[in-house]
Amino acid sequence: MKEHVDVVIIGGGVIGQSVAYYLSRSGVATTVIEQNRIGRKTTQASAGMLGVHTENDQQGTYYQFCQASRNMYASLSDELFSLSGIDIQLSTNGMLEIATNEEQKQRLQAKQKAFEGLEWLDGGGIRQRTSALTHAVGGLYMQQDGNVEPLAVCEAFKQASLGMGSQVIENCRVANIDRVRDVFHIQFENGGISADHVVVAAGANSGKWFEATGLKNPMIPTKGECFAIKPSDPSIEQTLFFHNLYLVPKRDGRYIIGATSYHYDSSSYTSTGGIFELMNRLFRLFPSLQQEELHSCWTGVRPGTKDGRPIIGEHPDVSNLYFATGHYRNGILLAPATGKLVSDMVLNRYVPASIERLFTPARFRKGRVRYANTRERTANGGS
Ligand SMILES: Cc1cc2nc3c(=O)[nH]c(=O)nc-3n(C[C@H](O)[C@H](O)[C@H](O)COP(=O)(O)OP(=O)(O)OC[C@H]3O[C@@H](n4cnc5c(N)ncnc54)[C@H](O)[C@@H]3O)c2cc1C
Repeated sequence: MKEHVDVVIIGGGVIGQSVAYYLSRSGVATTVIEQNRIGRKTTQASAGMLGVHTENDQQGTYYQFCQASRNMYASLSDELFSLSGIDIQLSTNGMLEIATNEEQKQRLQAKQKAFEGLEWLDGGGIRQRTSALTHAVGGLYMQQDGNVEPLAVCEAFKQASLGMGSQVIENCRVANIDRVRDVFHIQFENGGISADHVVVAAGANSGKWFEATGLKNPMIPTKGECFAIKPSDPSIEQTLFFHNLYLVPKRDGRYIIGATSYHYDSSSYTSTGGIFELMNRLFRLFPSLQQEELHSCWTGVRPGTKDGRPIIGEHPDVSNLYFATGHYRNGILLAPATGKLVSDMVLNRYVPASIERLFTPARFRKGRVRYANTRERTANGGS
C-alpha cells in the first residue's frame, strides 16, 4: 500500500466507486477505503431503477442531472464491459408508472404535460403489457427509463479503476481524519495513509463526518426492505411503478418487489411485518403471483438528507475535502453523474453554478466555523 496518495475515497459503495472511476479515467489514481466489501451495504440492496420520471414531477436542474446520469449509462455499459468484462445488465425496456384511481391518474397526466416523450396508456393499454395486473385506470410509459444490476455497476467501476492504477482497501474502517497544513492523515484501526484530497462517500454513515468537520449532520438514514420472487413464466418486461409499490423485472428472471420506508431507522434486519405489507400490496394488484416461488428478501439503509437533495461538493471551510453522499433512493441512477461531477470539482474543471448551488455542502453550515484550514482539530469518525 502506498503511504501518500492524491485522493482517498471513504466508502466503496456505488458512489465512491463511481468517483474512483471518473478520477482514474482522468489520470488521477485513487484509493478507496471500505469497511466491509465493496458494494455490500446499501448499493447491494437497491432495485437498480433508473427512474428519472418516477422521481421527478417537474423540470429543473435536479431533473436535468437525473436525466444526464441515466443517459450516461448507455455508453458506460459498453465502456465498463470492455474495461472490466462485467455486464451491468442495463435494461432499456422502459418503465410504466401506473394509476389505480382517478386522483393518481390526474397526477400522472399532469406529469405527462411537464415532460416530453412520455406516452399515456389507458387501462386496456396497461393490461396489454402486464396481463397479470387486475386493476389499472391508466399509466405513463417512460420509454427511456430502465434499470441496471447495482452490484455489477459497483464491481465494474471497481475493476475498471483498478485497471487504471487506482487501489481499493477492503475490510478497513476509517476511524479518523486529521489535517496538518495541506495534508490529510486518514487513520484506520491498523495504520493510516495520507492524501491531498479526501472524498467522503460513506452512504448512510456519512453524518459523523459532517459533524466532525463543523457542519450540521444532514443525514436521515431510511431503512428499506424488498423481496424477490422467481416466477415460472417471467412475462413482465417493463419496470412497474405504483404509488406505494414497484416491481422490477431482472434479466435473470427475478421480479424485485419494493420497498418499505422507515426514517431514522438504520437497523439491518428484514422485518416480517414489512415483507407482509409489501406482499399484501402486491397480491391486491397481482393475485396470480401468490403461486410463485419466493426467492429472497433483504434490507438496506438509504442515505436520505434533511432537504431531500444529495450533497456533492467541497466542504465550505476545508479545502480539498469533498462530500458525495445523500442520494437517498436514487444513488444508482445518479452514480455516473455524481462520479463525473466530483472528478470535475477535484480537477478544477468547469462546473455549472446551478449544479454547484443545488448540491453544495454549505447548506449545512453552522453559524460559526469550527474547523479551520491550517491546523484542524481531529475529526473523529466514531463507529
Ligand atoms: C430497498 C432499497 C431500494 C433502492 N432502490 C433504488 C433504485 O431502484 N434506484 C436507485 O437509484 N437507488 C435505489 N436505492 C438507493 C441506493 O441504493 C443508494 O442511494 C445508493 O446505494 C447509495 O450508495 P452509496 O455509495 O452512497 O452508499 P453505500 O452503498 O452504503 O456505500 C457506502 C459505503 O461506505 C462504507 N463506509 C461507511 N463508513 C465507513 C468508514 N468509516 N470507513 C470505511 N468505509 C465506510 C460502507 O461500508 C458502504 O459500503 C435503493 C435503496 C434501498 C435501501
